[in-house]
Amino acid sequence: MASELESEVQAIDRSLLECSPEETSGKWLQATDLTREVYQHLAHYVPKIYCRGPNPFPQKEDMLAQHILLGPMEWYICGEDPAFGFPKLEQSNKPSHLCGRVFKVGEPTYSCRDCAVDPTCVLCMECFLGSIHRDHRYRMTTSGGGGFCDCGDTEAWKEGPYCQKHELNTSEIEEEEDPLIHLSEDVIARTYNIFAIMFRYAVEILTWEKESELPADLEMVEKSDTYYCMLFNDEVHTYEQVIYTLQKAVNCTQKEAIGFATTVDRDGRRSVRYGDFQYCEQAKSVIVRNTSRQTKPLKVQVMHSSIVAHQNFGLKLLSWLGSIIGYSDGLRRILCQVGLQEGPDGENSSLVDRLMLSDSKLWKGARSVYHQLLMSSLLMDLKYKKLFAVQFAKNYQQLQRDFMEDDHERAVSVTALSVQFFTAPTLARMLITEENLMTVIIKTFMDHLRHRDAQGRFQFERYTALQAFKFRRVQSLILDLKYVLISKPTEWSDDLRQKFLEGFDAFLELLKCMQGMDPITRQVGQHIEMEPEWEAAFTLQMKLTHVISMMQDWCALDEKVLIEAYKKCLAVLMQCHGGFTDGEQPISLSFCGHSVETIRYCVSQEKVSIHLPVSRLLAGLHVLLSKSEVAYKFPELLPLSELSPPMLIEHPLRCLVLCAQVHAGMWRRNGFSLVNQIYYYHDVKCRREMFDKDIVMLQTGVSMMDPNHFLMIMLSRFELYHVFSTQDYGKRFCSDITHKDVVQQNNTLIEEMLYLIIMLVGERFSPGVGQVNATDEIKREIIHQLSIKPMAHSELVKSLPEDENKETGMESVIEAVAHFKKPGLTGRGMYELKPECAKEFNLYFYHFSRAEQSKAEEAQRKLKRKNREDTALPPPVLPPFCPLFASLVNILQSDVMLYIMETILQWAVERNGYAWSESMLQRVLHLIGMALQEEKQHLENVTEEHVVTFTFTLKISKPGEAPNNTPSILAMLETLQNAPYLEVHKDMIKWILKTFNAIKKIRESSSTSPVAETEGTIMEETSRDKDKAERKRKAEIARLRREKIMAQMSEMQRHFIDENKELFQQTLELDASTSAVLDNSPVVSDMTLTALGPAQTQVPEQRQFVTCILCQEEQEVKVESKAMVLAAFVQRSTVLSKNRSKFNDDPEKYDPLFMHPDLSCGTYTGSCGHIMHAHCWQRYFDSVQAKEQRRQQRLRLHTSYDVENGEFLCPLCECLSNTVIPLLLPPRNIFKSRLNFSDQPNLTQWIRTISQQIKALQVLRKEGSTPNTASSDNLENMDEFHFPEGFRPDFHPKNPYSESIKEMLTTFGTATYKVGLKVHPNEEDPRVPIMCWGSCAYTIQSIERILTDEDRPLFGPLPCRLDDCLRSLTRFAAAHWTVASLSVVQGHFCKLFASLVPNGSHGDIPCILDIDMFHLLVGLVLAFPALQCQDFSGISLDTGDLHIFHLVTMAHIVQILLTSCTEENGMDQENPTEEELAVLALYKTLHWYTGSALKEIPCGWHLWRSVRAGIMPFLKCSALFFHYLNGVPSPPDIQVSGTSHFEHLCNYLSLPNNLIGLFQENSEITNSLIESWCRNSEVKRYLEGKRDAIRYPRESNKLIDLPEDYSSLINQASNFSCPKLGGDKSRAPTLCLVCGTLLCSQSYCCQTELEGEDVGACTAHTYSCGSGVGIFLRVRECQVLFLAGKTKGCFYSPPYLDDYGETDQGLRRGNPLHLCKERFKKIQMLWHQHSITEEIGHAQEANQTLVGIDWQHL
Ligand SMILES: [Zn+2]
Ligand SMILES: [Zn+2]
Ligand SMILES: [Zn+2]
Ligand SMILES: [Zn+2]
Ligand SMILES: [Zn+2]
Ligand SMILES: [Zn+2]
Ligand SMILES: [Zn+2]
Repeated sequence: MASELESEVQAIDRSLLECSPEETSGKWLQATDLTREVYQHLAHYVPKIYCRGPNPFPQKEDMLAQHILLGPMEWYICGEDPAFGFPKLEQSNKPSHLCGRVFKVGEPTYSCRDCAVDPTCVLCMECFLGSIHRDHRYRMTTSGGGGFCDCGDTEAWKEGPYCQKHELNTSEIEEEEDPLIHLSEDVIARTYNIFAIMFRYAVEILTWEKESELPADLEMVEKSDTYYCMLFNDEVHTYEQVIYTLQKAVNCTQKEAIGFATTVDRDGRRSVRYGDFQYCEQAKSVIVRNTSRQTKPLKVQVMHSSIVAHQNFGLKLLSWLGSIIGYSDGLRRILCQVGLQEGPDGENSSLVDRLMLSDSKLWKGARSVYHQLLMSSLLMDLKYKKLFAVQFAKNYQQLQRDFMEDDHERAVSVTALSVQFFTAPTLARMLITEENLMTVIIKTFMDHLRHRDAQGRFQFERYTALQAFKFRRVQSLILDLKYVLISKPTEWSDDLRQKFLEGFDAFLELLKCMQGMDPITRQVGQHIEMEPEWEAAFTLQMKLTHVISMMQDWCALDEKVLIEAYKKCLAVLMQCHGGFTDGEQPISLSFCGHSVETIRYCVSQEKVSIHLPVSRLLAGLHVLLSKSEVAYKFPELLPLSELSPPMLIEHPLRCLVLCAQVHAGMWRRNGFSLVNQIYYYHDVKCRREMFDKDIVMLQTGVSMMDPNHFLMIMLSRFELYHVFSTQDYGKRFCSDITHKDVVQQNNTLIEEMLYLIIMLVGERFSPGVGQVNATDEIKREIIHQLSIKPMAHSELVKSLPEDENKETGMESVIEAVAHFKKPGLTGRGMYELKPECAKEFNLYFYHFSRAEQSKAEEAQRKLKRKNREDTALPPPVLPPFCPLFASLVNILQSDVMLYIMETILQWAVERNGYAWSESMLQRVLHLIGMALQEEKQHLENVTEEHVVTFTFTLKISKPGEAPNNTPSILAMLETLQNAPYLEVHKDMIKWILKTFNAIKKIRESSSTSPVAETEGTIMEETSRDKDKAERKRKAEIARLRREKIMAQMSEMQRHFIDENKELFQQTLELDASTSAVLDNSPVVSDMTLTALGPAQTQVPEQRQFVTCILCQEEQEVKVESKAMVLAAFVQRSTVLSKNRSKFNDDPEKYDPLFMHPDLSCGTYTGSCGHIMHAHCWQRYFDSVQAKEQRRQQRLRLHTSYDVENGEFLCPLCECLSNTVIPLLLPPRNIFKSRLNFSDQPNLTQWIRTISQQIKALQVLRKEGSTPNTASSDNLENMDEFHFPEGFRPDFHPKNPYSESIKEMLTTFGTATYKVGLKVHPNEEDPRVPIMCWGSCAYTIQSIERILTDEDRPLFGPLPCRLDDCLRSLTRFAAAHWTVASLSVVQGHFCKLFASLVPNGSHGDIPCILDIDMFHLLVGLVLAFPALQCQDFSGISLDTGDLHIFHLVTMAHIVQILLTSCTEENGMDQENPTEEELAVLALYKTLHWYTGSALKEIPCGWHLWRSVRAGIMPFLKCSALFFHYLNGVPSPPDIQVSGTSHFEHLCNYLSLPNNLIGLFQENSEITNSLIESWCRNSEVKRYLEGKRDAIRYPRESNKLIDLPEDYSSLINQASNFSCPKLGGDKSRAPTLCLVCGTLLCSQSYCCQTELEGEDVGACTAHTYSCGSGVGIFLRVRECQVLFLAGKTKGCFYSPPYLDDYGETDQGLRRGNPLHLCKERFKKIQMLWHQHSITEEIGHAQEANQTLVGIDWQHL
């Protein structure tokens, strides 16, 4: 069937290809009815090309379409072969000075914070790098797709609109040139014809809605019964739902279903079945049925194949148009004309209108294609952009209505184009004046929020899900409004004024619907049953915040507009509250001889709302008026006469009282929604247009009324009127405990009220309120933030309000108020407050939260104490008020205020019960302080003709009047000064009295007014104490200096500890574990130390005592005692790998005996160095396991460690472990001491003896393995074979270790085997000992690499956990043979030995180029005792070690010479050294044995150098190995870094300094050995260049190089597409830092199966690249990802920092990021040290949520 279809398709193709584009276009040129002709062509061919089967063949379709359908059009346009025609057009075209590059998803975009008109103006990377902005303050973001580069748009940039490339095209722009003049009349006419037909065709077919019928002029004669079941995208159903449904409905595999779902998500639709109508209909009904249960069903259509075919071609056509107009601006102009030409149906009927108006009905793929066409055509042509903008504005309401109904994201809606017009200043202004855009937007917005209460206010309560959904969508309209307002007019026309005010009216209507919304009533008795909805209202407020501010900014620009707006706003406010009584009962209050009319209203009993946008807008406008010139010159012209101050203050005051009552706990029963509202009311995101403006409104009110009246109203609203009007209120409650709650509540309310008064008088840093500018305001904010604590840049930014351009204005002032402290290896850069700014600190700063206030207070007092100052925190000196607000200060000296102060001080003096509080007193003291500061300033700034009317000092010195006869405030303060219960406030009172005296002095000296007589005692006292004080001060300074030095020193010490944390911790650990390891100290310091061989330095046996961390018992490490173990973690590693492509797919069969020199996968063992009894550990481990199993069953929780795999956490340090290493004494000493002969064989003799012994073993084994042979034959053979002297193969030595130690040897051996090979544990497997030796060798190699890379000495101070680990590991590996089968170990030895001394009986031995010599050395040395223990001929173990070492060293030298880089070095040497001559001789021998295949002899100097360099790592590893094996202390020379220590190493390792001497000493055997090594066929192949080999020294692996600038990584990732699907979307491009591969992470498309489970691309990659461990950079998130296995992972801070020393995880802030080399090095260190898994473990222990993440899907 399939092949039949295939051949049919091919047959069609052939006939199609015969069709000639030239002929067709010729026919068209002759046609009288071109449209009919072209349509016929399309009707005939399109269904033959597209949609021929179940799956699309995009390449073939494109090829055919180009040939048959598009080709003729191109011919037609050009009138000749387009291959010549288009280049001609291109040449005559003047390239555009606009870039217009359309952004892909994830592409980096740049905005200049200095020059961009608004943050939506962005550049592509290429333009940015060629622009002046790269040296400015810029911001980098990643595009969400859509939008284009604004390079060349002069309106978008205040400066530098062109990059270098686009600048070139600007030289000749004159005015507006018609691009059509570059085209011939003919081309214009033909292009117009064909564009008109094709554009119409595409629009018609894409918006076609019938499912089985084509438009009449495209209908076919014969129609097949072929249909598609088309599935459409929606935003309701999840991926999983779709995949599940598809598997059911169309019977496909999960993989296919994933494919379908992914395409649907990307393109918006995908056919999921092809066949006859019935067949497709059936699938449709299953899908609909399956998805309609909870939500609306998935959209599915059964469509005739020909319709789909035409639609596919329609899309192709649109992209074709887009590319054709790229040839010439003239063509683009024609297409614009065609697109915007009004159609037959009149207004809004052009092709572009038709597309826009059916936007919400189109599928995603179609939308993005035509949006792109609009961007490359209409938006690139400045003339038509304007016309298009007008059309867009005309259709605005309808488009928004459609968008509301549509369920797609805004990014794929045509409404998202608004940003392209609305942010362009001239366009926006034109649209405002000509299309009344502001009003249109606001009205559209209001239309969609219909839900209102009886008063016409918005109501969000009982909102349905659908309404909530619409509400979210409608918010984009606010964004549009913001765009329109973002660039402010520099000039106003009358038209603009009129239209703006019209828009302002509409806006007021909107705010009116918000004024008083969501009112609340205090809940008494019971708690509220349901938390009322509050978020919607706040969302609205939050979204509108910037718009409200911008409205004010606009008003501020034109006085006429401002005054008009002010009047309008006031009128609306009056409407809102119907005058001020609002129907409430009037009452009158009197107090201290003043009386005032007000209303009866209690916040705690009646409705109150937090939303008062109209009042707040009026407050904002009032401040602007106050700032304006009119206010200074002709205040009478301001529309202030209509204001009724009591009405203005009423509602803001209620709101503030509400906050106070909530704070006093009176609204507890109203639940969290209220708490949240109060929180947001003060929050930085809202406060600017909420809380701040309420304060301003009260300030406005107070400045216009009698302060006594204001205070009385305020007392009444705070419900405190009775407290202060009742005589002896304080006394009444002093002993009465029944009203405790009420009293406390009242106390809080009094505190809050005093705080409010402080704010009203003190908050004058908004320009317009006080005589300050915007800089002063922001400075003050920063000073107060930094008074709390030093802060990082981002923290500070977050605490400051952002304007509509996302700017806080912080950068311009930060240097004036703070010092920057750079970050270290971790942490962030910090800003610290400059000490001289501390005097501006105001404890009652109005943006402090309670917590911040108390923190700041504490910090500031501490600072003062440190500086040896008094701890008073007096109010700072304040700037003067603007004239409109000037009378506000009088509130401080008003009668009511003084009465309140007096009363509270009285309470404090009498100190009765709980009728007062310290904070109350503190606030009164602050207020008094403020009044004094005010008076002092008035006096200091007084001019001749003015009389200072602020006479606070006079008033407070007067005693109270009859009948109370209370003492004066001053007198009470003096009393309180000595009160022992007010210790904290003593300094403040002292400060007040001092200031009082200072003022008195000023007054006296200027004698502007008589001063009342006061007690002079204080003055006298101060002068008497003056001398004393001076002396004291000097002593103080001296002590201070001393203390400072001390502090510096301790700081330095702390720094040292920080920097050397690891070292420090280790010393601590050492103390803690009390492991008395001493053998690093040179015991035998005078001798030359030798680590091995018969000349090995004898070290006196040391006893070692250790303490178990679990039971705290001390024990000696001995052969026969109970085992002590170290917690250890064994892991596979590819850190040293030189070949990451190697993959071992069958671990069961893998033979690890020989390690390849590419070290592609090793087994690393690490330990935290904590020691336990084996049995204590076992008990601990069992209990952990049992506990975890229970927990997992119960909670289904994951842990940071995998219990089933034997993992546990070290009980002391919580380090991840998976086994334990037994602690042993040097194992050689146990066997060595048995025999000691002086006469030892030389290398030649030794090799001969060993070869004989091996042969004997082989003979024995052969017999043993042939059971049929009679035992008599056996004996005969034995006789024939000359048995080596003293060799007793039947001897089996006794294992000296205790049972417990033996058990641990097996445990650790098995663990190494299990982890290293990834197999099931099997202690009998012959590979167990090999894995143990391998792990020992690999771990030593890893450590050697780290030490060398870091230039640390080989035997320098090693962290003691490493030292412990290496010692135990080496000794363990050396002892392991005692628990393995003797014959197995002997077998391994024989085979290893055969690789160097061939004996013909092993076939599969690699050549010496393919053996890692250090692994070979370790294997041979550690297996040797198994052979030696049966040898009674007198050869000692030491001799064997030495000969093995020499033999392997020789092989390594040959290996190095064979692979050394033999570039010709023609220099002849003058005086070759002995070594150089020797190495030349050896090289000649090699040359000879390789049959001259080795290259010509280079110079000796060069050869010797490469041998020395190549062998160094091996020598170093060997030195470590023998040091730990035999316990010989290291020579002191190697304990320091510096020189290469080649000679010292040779001495220590018992090697001649001239290494080649080894060959000369043993010349009898060397030639035959060299011959056997060189004659190997692999060596030959290598020398012939047919294969490769590892060279020495191997270079250390590094993590990949990262670019300095982070954006180039983003750019790289944006060019990366999913390797499986192609296309342009990879959601989470992730870079492997080990090998540099980019992966498509966290996505269905790239999931693969690993060990039977679906895993994401990263996890899959770790298995091939890192043996399960991975280090990645998530490029879009700017986050480092560590992975280990399938279940473990964590995020790590990235090595990229911004200029403020901070990382930007998630790329939210967009500051430019640069590589921090030190941090990157630290990550590399973690990798080299094999600490990634440990790091993950610690992160997961610290943050449990990390455990729950599905790491395997990343
Ligand atoms: Zn660009
Ligand atoms: Zn450019
Ligand atoms: Zn700039
Ligand atoms: Zn113990
Ligand atoms: Zn530990
Ligand atoms: Zn993918
Ligand atoms: Zn990799």
